[in-house]
Amino acid sequence: MPKQENGQREVSLIQNDLSESIEEEVRAFLGDEEKLHLFDDLTKVNPVTTRTVLKCLQARYRVNLFYTNAGCSLVALNPFQPFSCLYSPELMREYHVALCPQDLKPHIFAVAEQTYRNVQKQMDPVNQSIIVSGESGAGKTWTSRCLMKFYASVAASVISPKGNETVERIEKRVLDSNPVMEAFGNACTLRNNNSSRFGKYIQLQLDRFHHLIGASIQTFLLEKTRVAYQAPNERNFHIFYQITKGATAEERLEWNLPEGAEYRWLPNSERNLDEDCFEVTRGAMLHLGIGPATQSNIFKVLSGLLHLGNLQFSNPVDESQPCELEDKTKEFVKTTGDLLQIPTEELLESLRIRTITAGKQQQVFKKPCSRAECETRRDCLAKVIYARLFEWLVLVINENIYTDPSVWTSFIGLLDVYGFEAFPENNLEQLCINYANEKLQQHFVAHYLKAQQEEYAAEGLQWSFINYQDNQNCLDLIEGNPLSIFSLLNEECRLNRASNTDLFQTRIEKALSSNQCLSRDKFNKKPNFIISHYAGKVCYQLAAMVEKNKDAVPPELVHVLQNSKDPLLQKLFPVTEKNQNNTKTQNRAAVVTVVSKFKSSLEHLMEILSRTTPHYIRCIKPNADCKAMTFRREEVLSQLQACGIVEAITISAAGFPVRIPFQSFTERYKLLRKSWGSSKKRVWDKSSSHPAEKEGEIPAMGDDKAPRAAVLEILQDAARGQTPA
Ligand code: ATP
Ligand code: MG
Repeated sequence: MPKQENGQREVSLIQNDLSESIEEEVRAFLGDEEKLHLFDDLTKVNPVTTRTVLKCLQARYRVNLFYTNAGCSLVALNPFQPFSCLYSPELMREYHVALCPQDLKPHIFAVAEQTYRNVQKQMDPVNQSIIVSGESGAGKTWTSRCLMKFYASVAASVISPKGNETVERIEKRVLDSNPVMEAFGNACTLRNNNSSRFGKYIQLQLDRFHHLIGASIQTFLLEKTRVAYQAPNERNFHIFYQITKGATAEERLEWNLPEGAEYRWLPNSERNLDEDCFEVTRGAMLHLGIGPATQSNIFKVLSGLLHLGNLQFSNPVDESQPCELEDKTKEFVKTTGDLLQIPTEELLESLRIRTITAGKQQQVFKKPCSRAECETRRDCLAKVIYARLFEWLVLVINENIYTDPSVWTSFIGLLDVYGFEAFPENNLEQLCINYANEKLQQHFVAHYLKAQQEEYAAEGLQWSFINYQDNQNCLDLIEGNPLSIFSLLNEECRLNRASNTDLFQTRIEKALSSNQCLSRDKFNKKPNFIISHYAGKVCYQLAAMVEKNKDAVPPELVHVLQNSKDPLLQKLFPVTEKNQNNTKTQNRAAVVTVVSKFKSSLEHLMEILSRTTPHYIRCIKPNADCKAMTFRREEVLSQLQACGIVEAITISAAGFPVRIPFQSFTERYKLLRKSWGSSKKRVWDKSSSHPAEKEGEIPAMGDDKAPRAAVLEILQDAARGQTPA
C-alpha cells in the first residue's frame, strides 16, 4: 500500500528481481499454470516467494476463489461484487456442521467455526480473537459484519435455556450496532464509499453453553476532524446526509433543515449512496434502546453543527474589536444557538473572545481572536461535540448489549482496524495508525514464529532459533522510554511553548539519532521525519503535530457547552467536569495528549489479544478503482508486503522454506539412496541423465519402510556422500 515514491521504488525493485530465471523456477515448481488456482494454502507453494504467492492469488481470483489460506492467516481478496451464495445461511451451516471445516474451501466461515470450536474444546487460551486487517476499502468491515452474522446464526441454531426469543433479541441488538456505528463513524472517501473512520474491537461474549449472550465494543481514534473538514471529493459522516435527506416535513421544521438548504460541511450531497439510509439507522437505534425522543435530540444537535459550519468571519475594521460575522452567514448564528440551546451572544463571544488570566492577582483579560482563530474555534466546537456524541453512543450501545462478566465464560474478539497508511503528507493520525500496525505486526510475528517452532518440534526436527526481522527498534523509536517520538511530542505539549517545528525537528534528531529507523527527507523543505516501518518508509510532517497532540479545547467553549439547556449536551458536558476556565486546573503535568491516550488504549487491547488464541484475516484490495474482476499485480504486491504476509514468508524462508510431502520427496530423491545405489550396477553415459532410465527401470521405493524413515535414510545417505558419481 505505500503510495509514495519510496514505496513505489520498493515495488519496482521486487519486480526487477523477478527475472526470467525465476519465472522458470516458478513454472518448474508450481507446475501447470492451469492448476495454479488449486493451491488453497500458500504455505504449500514451493518455493514461497512473493512472486509465487502473487501468481496463485491471481489464478484463484480469476476463477472467483477469493479466500486462500496462508498458514495461520487467511488472505481475503475483495471481489467488489456481491456473491450472495458466498455468505448464505446454507453455507454458514455447511461450515458449522462439517466434520473438519478446514478441509472445506478456505473461507472466513472456516476461521469463524474454528474459533467457535476452540472455545468449545477449551483450547488454551480459550478466548479467541480474529484480527482483520488491510488497507482502506479492502473489505475489513464487510468481513467483520459477515463474521458477526455467522456467530449470530450459529448461536441461533442452538436452543437457549432462556428461550430462543432472548437469544434472538441479543443477537439482533449486537448486529444492529453495525448500522449505527457505521452511520456515525463511516464516511465516503476517495478510497471507499463506506470508509470506517475509527478502529473497532468487538468482543462477542459466550456463556458456558456457547451461546452468544452479549458483546462489548471498544473504539479507537475517531477521525473527528472530518466533521469540520472534508478533503476534495470526500464527504462528511453518513449520518449528516441521512438526516438531511431522510427527515420528515415535521422534523425538518423542528431541526431547522429546510429542503434544498446548503451547508458548507455537507459536500457532495448530490451523490446518492446506499449508506444514506436514515430508516435503517433509526430502526437500529431503537433496538438498541435509543428511543424517538433521544434520537430527535441527537439529530437536532447534529443539525446545529451543520448551521455552525456555515458561520464565517471577517476581519474587523478596528483591530481591537472582535471579528465580524460575514453578512450572508449572520442568520446561522441564531439557528445554531437555538438548535444547541445556547444564547446567541454567549455562543458568539466564546467563538470570538479569548479569556486570559494572568499575574499574581489572577486578573482576567479579554482579547479578541483573529479571524483564523475564530474559525479554529468554530471547528473545534463541532469536533468536540461530535467526538463526545460518538463516545456516548458507544457507551449506550455497550449498555444495551452488555452482559455481566459473571455470566459469560469466554469470548471471541473481532478487530477491524485501519491498515498501514502512507500518503504524500502524513501527520499525527498516520503516526498513530502506523504505530498500531507495528504493534499488531509484532504480535503476529511472535505468534507465527511460535506456531512454526511448535510444528518443527512436532516433526522432531533439530532446530535453532529463527533469526527474523524484529520491529522492536521501530516501536522503541515511536513509544519507547525515556526518549521516543511520543515522549518528545508529549514534552512539547507539557511545556506549552510556542511551537517551532524547525527546533522540534532538531530536538528529535538529536535525541533519537542512534535509532536506525529514523531519518529525514532532506529534499523536503518542510520540517519532517521519516520512520522505516516494517511495511515501508513513511515521511511525517511536523507542522501542527504538537497542536494535534494537545487536542486542546478552549475553556470558553467548554463553559458555553456546560451552560447549554439542551439535555443531550448537558449529558455530554457535565458541569462536574473541571471547569477549564479556571487556570489552576490547567495543571501542565495533567495534560492528557492524543498519543498517550491512544498508547494506553492500544496497550489495553494488546493485553487482551495476548491472552487469546489469534487468527488473522488479511483483506486485500485487488485494485484501487473498486472494480470487479480487476487484479492489479503491483497493487496487490505492495499490500502483501504491507500486511505482513511477506514478513511471514521471510520467516518461513529463514526456517525450512521448502516443504515436500514424504512421498514426493522419496520419488524425487530416491537416487540418493544407498541401498538402491549399491544393489544396482550403475551404467552412466553422457546421453542419459538418469541411470534408471538407461536401465529401463525405476526402482520401487521403501515399500517396506514408513515414508518418514525412507526420507531420513535418503538424507543420511546423501550426507555420507553416497551420491551417484
Ligand atoms: P476502510 O478501512 O476504509 O473502512 P474496509 O477495509 O473496512 O475499508 P469495506 O468497507 O469492508 O472496506 O469494503 C469496501 C467495499 O468493498 C464494500 O462497501 C463492498 O462494496 C465491497 N466488499 C468488500 N468485501 C466484499 C465481499 N466479500 N463481497 C462483495 N463486496 C465486498
Ligand atoms: Mg471499514
